[in-house]
Amino acid sequence: MGQYVAPIRDMQFVLHELLNVTDELKAMPDFAEIDADIINQVLEEGAKFTQDVLFPLNHSGDREGCHYDAATKTVTTPKGFKEAYKQYVEGGWAALACDEQYGGQGLPIALNNSFYEMLNSSNQAWSMYPGLSHGAYECLKEHGTDEQKSVYLPKLASGEWTGTMCLTEAHCGTDLGLLRSKAVPQADGSWSITGSKIFISAGEHDMSENIVHLVLARVPDAPEGSKGISLFLVPKFLPNADGSLGERNPIFCGAIEEKMGIHGNATCQMNLDGAKGWIIGQPNKGLQAMFVFMNAARLGVGMQSLGLTEVAYQNALTYAKDRIQMRSLSGPKAPDKPADPIIVHPDVRRMLLTAKAFAEGGRAFSSYMALQIDRELHHPDEEVRKEAADEVALLTPIIKAFLTDNGWIATSEALQVYGGHGYISEWGMEQYVRDSRINMIYEGTNTVQSLDLLGRKILMDNGAKLRKFGEKIKAFVEENGLDENMSEFITPLGDLGDKVTKLTMEIGMKAFQNPEEVGAAAVPYLRVVGHLVFSYFFAQMAKIALAKEDSGDNFYKAKLATTRFYFARLYPETAMLIRQARSGSANLMALDADLF
Ligand SMILES: Cc1cc2nc3c(=O)[nH]c(=O)nc-3n(C[C@H](O)[C@H](O)[C@H](O)COP(=O)(O)OP(=O)(O)OC[C@H]3O[C@@H](n4cnc5c(N)ncnc54)[C@H](O)[C@@H]3O)c2cc1C
Repeated sequence: MGQYVAPIRDMQFVLHELLNVTDELKAMPDFAEIDADIINQVLEEGAKFTQDVLFPLNHSGDREGCHYDAATKTVTTPKGFKEAYKQYVEGGWAALACDEQYGGQGLPIALNNSFYEMLNSSNQAWSMYPGLSHGAYECLKEHGTDEQKSVYLPKLASGEWTGTMCLTEAHCGTDLGLLRSKAVPQADGSWSITGSKIFISAGEHDMSENIVHLVLARVPDAPEGSKGISLFLVPKFLPNADGSLGERNPIFCGAIEEKMGIHGNATCQMNLDGAKGWIIGQPNKGLQAMFVFMNAARLGVGMQSLGLTEVAYQNALTYAKDRIQMRSLSGPKAPDKPADPIIVHPDVRRMLLTAKAFAEGGRAFSSYMALQIDRELHHPDEEVRKEAADEVALLTPIIKAFLTDNGWIATSEALQVYGGHGYISEWGMEQYVRDSRINMIYEGTNTVQSLDLLGRKILMDNGAKLRKFGEKIKAFVEENGLDENMSEFITPLGDLGDKVTKLTMEIGMKAFQNPEEVGAAAVPYLRVVGHLVFSYFFAQMAKIALAKEDSGDNFYKAKLATTRFYFARLYPETAMLIRQARSGSANLMALDADLF
């Protein structure tokens, strides 16, 4: 069923040529020993595992789905999933970016991120089982007690136990302030938690021996709304003092959802009936503690769509070279055949290049972001750490929403390349479209990400974080502004930077008069800023490619062609988006709800 070959060449280009990742990592003592060979070796081994072990289970996992047994309240994952997970754990993959102190391999997020792209290209549904564990690991590492860390972190790092995030309840998704699950303190320092969670990814399964649930609930007398939410650690099996598994905790799966895509991943209703848990961090400060998890998960969701974009593109490309229909407008290109391969047709190329540009732009952006997370967590200079943290905060909603919207467009275009064959299940393309749709919804819908970007991350700090990032773009524009060869990339980049500044100020002014203006502008605004980020990375990649255009390596020629396509065909969307963002709230709010 189709194919997947990890795009190692492009990953290496991004890590080594665009980001100079080994030099950057040398500035961080924790990563000083990491050289290009280690990075390349991990990429190659990661490619083997994902291509050979996970990819073959993608289509079968989708067809089979998960099974729920109401008598035992257990979930069986599709055939082969459990065995693949065993190989993943034995290969040390779960431990890649975990600290050596907890049994991890101590490698940077920048490298783990590339591996994560491969996981998602090969099998998003499978990758969600271990995918949430790293967020749980980071959250506990940052906010857990020493005892919690010593019991749980080594198990999460090894992959013996997996993690979940239990936020959503039937009446509360976006608005966590409505949450009702309750936690009552016990004499032994633990808490008794009661409530019902829905839509919990990997809430129950047969792949690991224990599951560590991170659960949001309210303590007695908690303030109403989001200020009264606390975070708890609730294991499926209570660990004994020696780390072995003890009593079964009453947190049970009551049902699994039937859904549009990611069929191989169990989306569980989880019922807590006096389950034993331990508080993480301070009472009523649960959302702050959970943010560590949610930020990791938001980058993770962006990577899910990047993975799907890449694999859908690869398959569509192979098909377009093979499928023959009609002749090229400029005369036969395969005269020996009864028709030309469809890749000769301009619009088929547009569809392929859309997916290719979204994949390459997304790879550059997300790898940069992952390196910034490494700086935030590991750089010895406090100033650098703070600057990186601010940038990560700014870019997180963009990576989540922009990459997942792009993934939806890219997988759909890739399906279209197949014509009717894309729509039927046999070729696997419709699965990519179905799987990618959830990425725009969970981890905070893309609307919520847009509100977070424009409202919280930009307007609430008077544009300081955006300005700081803008200074980097400005410096690049000034540095390359006189280079004639670069002007086709620098001009649109500089122009969009100016437009974003003006647009931000205009919305900020309007928002003083009417707060609805933020809600009305946020979604197109995020997409405009997403294009600004992409333009910045494409311009940098073009600079490298121009310098090596005549090296004989066609990779650089292809990179330039993709960059030119991006600026000619995808970037112009910003003109329309800016008009939409400027159009104000009246056209949305005028119609009374009864008149819809
Ligand atoms: C397959 C799957 C897996 C999931 N996995 C998990 C998981 O592991 N853990 C977990 O806790 N949850 C999980 N979720 C839940 C998911 O995060 C929520 O569905 C999501 O946050 C949206 O919440 P909701 O469905 O209640 O929609 P609602 O919050 O009811 O939103 C409905 C619509 O209203 C919009 N909206 C809401 N408020 C505003 C606003 N202020 N301004 C503008 N628009 C607004 C939303 O954007 C959305 O379009 C999962 C969901 C699914 C389907």
